Amino acid sequence: MNRLDPALTPLYELVLQRNPGETEFHQAVLEVMDSLGAVVRKHPDYADARVIARLCEPERQIIFRVPWVDDKGRIEIHRGFRVEFNSALGPYKGGIRFHPSVLLGTVKFLGFEQIFKNALTGLPIGGAKGGSDFDPKGRSDMEIMRFCQSFMTELYRHIGEYTDVPAGDIGVGGREIGYLFGQYKRITNRYESAVLTGKGIGWGGSQVRREATGYGLVYFVEEMLKTKGGSFDGQRVVVSGSGNVATYAIEKVHQLGGTVVACSDSSGYVVDENGIDLDLLKEIKEVRRGRISEYAQQRAATFVGDGSIWDVPCKVALPCATQNEMDEAAALTLIRNGCIAVGEGANMPVVPEAVKALRDAGVLFAPGKAANAGGVATSALEMQQNASRDSWSFEFTEGRLAEIMKGIHERCASTAEEYDVPGNYVLGANAAAFVQVADAMIAQGVI
Ligand code: GLU
Repeated sequence: MNRLDPALTPLYELVLQRNPGETEFHQAVLEVMDSLGAVVRKHPDYADARVIARLCEPERQIIFRVPWVDDKGRIEIHRGFRVEFNSALGPYKGGIRFHPSVLLGTVKFLGFEQIFKNALTGLPIGGAKGGSDFDPKGRSDMEIMRFCQSFMTELYRHIGEYTDVPAGDIGVGGREIGYLFGQYKRITNRYESAVLTGKGIGWGGSQVRREATGYGLVYFVEEMLKTKGGSFDGQRVVVSGSGNVATYAIEKVHQLGGTVVACSDSSGYVVDENGIDLDLLKEIKEVRRGRISEYAQQRAATFVGDGSIWDVPCKVALPCATQNEMDEAAALTLIRNGCIAVGEGANMPVVPEAVKALRDAGVLFAPGKAANAGGVATSALEMQQNASRDSWSFEFTEGRLAEIMKGIHERCASTAEEYDVPGNYVLGANAAAFVQVADAMIAQGVI
C-alpha cells in the first residue's frame, strides 16, 4: 500500500477514531483512499465539498434485536443490522449476510464497498448492506423460516422499492429471500416485488440472478486476460468456496474451455484433476447442504482438511469464499506456481499485502467491486423487470449481464489509463466509481 496522500490522512484518522475496532471497515476505506490521492490532486473541488468525509459516514445505521424460538422451544437472541450507506445514485441496494462472524464493522465494510460496486454497474442503485450474527449451519428449514420472519418483522419498516432493496449474500439464498419476502408481504399487505431481489423465477425473480455473480466474474476476468492476448480456454483454474458465487464461476469457466481443479468450504478443499463435477457439487451443496468432503467420497478426488487451497498450482485463481481469505504467503505461492490472473469473486478476499505482491509480480488483478458486480447488476435488472411487470428470457438477460461486465471492464481499464497506471484495475475501479458518486452528491447538495 502506498502512503496516503497528505490531504486524505486526517480523513482516514477520523474514520479510525469514529469506528474503533472495525478493522475490516478500516481496510476497505484505506484501500479506496489509497486510490483517491490522484483523483483529488486532479479535482481539488472534491476535497472542498468534503465529499470523501461524507462518503465515509453511513447515511443511516440500523441495529436491532432478532428474537426467535428454535425447534426445542428455546428462545434465541441475535443481532440484526442494516447499514444504508449512500443513496446518491438510487435507492440503497445490497445483500444481507447471515454468518456468526457478522459485526457492525463487517456490515459497514460491505456497505462501503457496495457504493462503488453499484456505481460501476452504471445502473441507478445506491449502496447498503445488512446481516445478522445468526449461523444458519445445521438449522432446520422451519428454524430458518422463523428466524427470517423475525428479522423481517423489524427490517420491513426501513425498506421499500424506492428506499432500500436488500438481496442475498453469504448464508442468504433463494430459500431465505422467499421467507423474508413472504413476511414483508404479510406485514405490509403489499405485493411489492422490487422490495427484495434474488426472488424465485415464478414470483418476480429474474433469470440469471442465481448465476450472475459467478458468470459476471468470469466474463470480467476473460476481458482482462484478453488484454494480454489470453483467455480461459485450456487454463487450469482454482476457485475457493462452493457457494453461489463459486458454483456459477466454475460453470462459466467450464463453458469457456477452462478446467477448475479445486474448490473448498470452511472445512477444507477438494482437488479433482479431471475438473470439478458440477452436478455432484450442486447436489451436495444446493440440495443436501452438505460438506465438501462428501465430494471426495463420491469421486476420484482428494480432500484436504487443513492447509491452503492456494497451494494448488493454477494459471487463474478466483477467490470466491469470503473476506481476507488470501494472505501474502498464498499470493507468493500462486506467483511461484505461475499464476497469471486473480479475480475476486468474494468481497475483499485478498489482503492488501497480497494485492501488492500480485501486482508487483505482474499478475493481472481484478478487484471484487468491479469483478463481482454482476450479481447486484442483475438485481437491478430484476428491479427493472418488476417495475415494468415483465420477465425476460435467460438468453436476453445473460446478454445484458455480459454487456454490463464488458462495460465495467472498459471503464476500469480506461480510467486506469487516464491516471497513467494502465492495468491497475484497483485504481481504475475506485476512481471511476468515486467520481460518479461524488458528482451526484455535490449536485444534490449538503444532505
Ligand atoms: N450480496 C451481493 C453483493 O455483494 C449482491 C447484492 C444485491 O444483489 O443487492 O454484491
